[in-house]
Amino acid sequence: MSFSQSRRNLLTGAAAGALASTAWGAGKTDSADVEPEVRYEYLHPREIEGAMKTCSSLFLPLGTLEWHGLHNVIGVDALKAHALCIKAAQKGGGLVAPPLYGGVGGLDESHTFVMDPENDVFSNHLRPWLERLCREAARNGFKAILILTGHYGAAQQIVVRETAVRMTRALGIPVLGTPEYFLALDEGYLGDHAAWGETSLMMHLYPDTVDLSRLEKPPYRGVFGRDPKESTEADGRRITETIVSRLATLAKAMPTWDEATIDRFNEAEAALVARQLTAPRGKQAIWVAWNNNGRAMRQYGAALVKEQFETILEAVKEL
Ligand SMILES: [Zn+2]
Repeated sequence: MSFSQSRRNLLTGAAAGALASTAWGAGKTDSADVEPEVRYEYLHPREIEGAMKTCSSLFLPLGTLEWHGLHNVIGVDALKAHALCIKAAQKGGGLVAPPLYGGVGGLDESHTFVMDPENDVFSNHLRPWLERLCREAARNGFKAILILTGHYGAAQQIVVRETAVRMTRALGIPVLGTPEYFLALDEGYLGDHAAWGETSLMMHLYPDTVDLSRLEKPPYRGVFGRDPKESTEADGRRITETIVSRLATLAKAMPTWDEATIDRFNEAEAALVARQLTAPRGKQAIWVAWNNNGRAMRQYGAALVKEQFETILEAVKEL
């Protein structure tokens, strides 16, 4: 079996599952059209070394197993983050670690696995595992890490960004830890749960997994946000293109950042997560720093890719 044949088999074989026919483009038969394999676990040593010479960024997609309405599959968060990371690596370079299924919180609904309690910013499980993943990525020669969480309770977001900030300091390489929707706030996607945003993304990334006809009458069980019946593949594509383009730009640039740039980047990220963590003052709801998120942080994604970290610092004061 030739190399290209073996790669094709990886992409179309059962192991690749839905990703092969969706994230990589369905129905492609010409091997020249096959996108490069960027999933770390499917690569041979020489392929990893070659890819890292071009771009030494590693994507870490995070999600969990959680009820996402009757119309979506249970793995939405990790599937979504994984597909976005794959598309970004194929566009801008870098490799993609296997998605992590498990995180902080999850709806109290059927079929949900909760590894750390909801609102648990102390996180005994996700935080140390994420730290270890970052340390191993750095030990293996990666010069930048992009953690993308498709699961986003408030505590999950805080733990992910706070860990990234601390790992940037400890490892001396830039580590970004963000939910995917933060990169598309200016597209009108403010994050939701199994509603218009997530469902539109899934309609674009994994069309076979969404079945709107399974939705019963509103209020829909375990769905939060704009009516998922308004979801469209076109909206999912638009949000995807924005997120992927920004991630690709970051993956290319981050390994080249000098120490001063890394410090400016991390100062903004640290301010953001500090605000999210302290805003409730131990008394108010953990989500209080998100009340104004859509307006204050609207330019976050654009500012990040332009390395305008001072813009982010200013925006954080509005939260
Ligand atoms: Zn979700």
